[in-house]
Amino acid sequence: MSTFWSPVVRELEPYVPGEQPQIDGLIKLNTNESPYPPSPKVIDVINHDTIDRLRLYPDPNSKKLKNTIAHYYGVTAEQVFVGNGSDEVLALLFMAFFQQGKPLLFPDISYSFYPVYCKLFGIDYQTIPLCEDYTINFADYAQANGGIIFPNPNAPTAIGKPLAEIEALLQQNTESVVVVDEAYVDFGAQTAIALVDKYPNLLVVQTLSKSRSLAGMRVGLAIGHRDLIDALDRVKNSFNSYPLDRIAEAAAIVAFEDETYFSRCRDQIIATRDWTTAELEKLGFKVLPSQANFVFAEPLGKNAADLAQHLRDHKILVRYFNKPRISQFLRITIGTDEQMQALIEALKKA
Ligand code: PMP
Repeated sequence: MSTFWSPVVRELEPYVPGEQPQIDGLIKLNTNESPYPPSPKVIDVINHDTIDRLRLYPDPNSKKLKNTIAHYYGVTAEQVFVGNGSDEVLALLFMAFFQQGKPLLFPDISYSFYPVYCKLFGIDYQTIPLCEDYTINFADYAQANGGIIFPNPNAPTAIGKPLAEIEALLQQNTESVVVVDEAYVDFGAQTAIALVDKYPNLLVVQTLSKSRSLAGMRVGLAIGHRDLIDALDRVKNSFNSYPLDRIAEAAAIVAFEDETYFSRCRDQIIATRDWTTAELEKLGFKVLPSQANFVFAEPLGKNAADLAQHLRDHKILVRYFNKPRISQFLRITIGTDEQMQALIEALKKA
């Protein structure tokens, strides 16, 4: 280990991203991307509208995209923040709102970037165990004074929380920022954006990486009270004042405008998820109820790590977490119907 590393970096256990294989021909069900390409209108705008202006800096405030998102969700552009993927939006909001001495609360089984950001930025945190059935119990979060963050639906469990329960949590917690990470919300959960005018400490984070097929583009957003967005802008301008390039901004605008294509892909993924769940259950899996574009499934009586390797041998990648309480599960992204049929066939051979 380098003597030049700072103590923080020496102590850091970095986030380990899901594998992005460098060989072709694999069925990739390991990082919750969409199996469908972006809207043809996105491809069109990239090819025709933006390329000739790449010598110029982009708009540092991504104003056109913010207007589009504001119109889409019925908020004002001043309530919208955008960044280079929701991972960057999350990093900036951790810096802006959470601190040492007042622990941030989040579920112990959740998005594994949260503890990494806490350690990197010197934020105290406390993880709260999930219930027996892998759901989040908001009653356990009543004492928060340093903030709360959770994904809805949760990752990697795929289980969503009803909006009424999120509102009850907000009624109990007015002292610190509550972040709802809605990376997977479009696949069946309810967005909390409708609550941002009522609760000035609520920040909702979303991404275009999943339901809008733009993981390779890196666009994420946050919606909340103007005051929270102002803080995020301060941090952003001190960090990277041009988070979105011209191509990303133009593509994201069209991805929000093409509602027909968006809802067609989403509906197809939900239908494929329901089919996959039923097939997995027939094969003896216990599948947690999913409101996401993936399922968290336990192969009863089989070793999950071995099964992940068996699938890999059949050129199918799924995600296995060697972590307490979830090491008996596989997280399987919902692909096309053909990909999921191949998965089921490969599992039958196990
Ligand atoms: N939040 C959650 C819960 C996620 O699973 C992911 C994807 N790994 C992200 C945020 C980040 O997504 P992106 O940076 O692609 O927007």
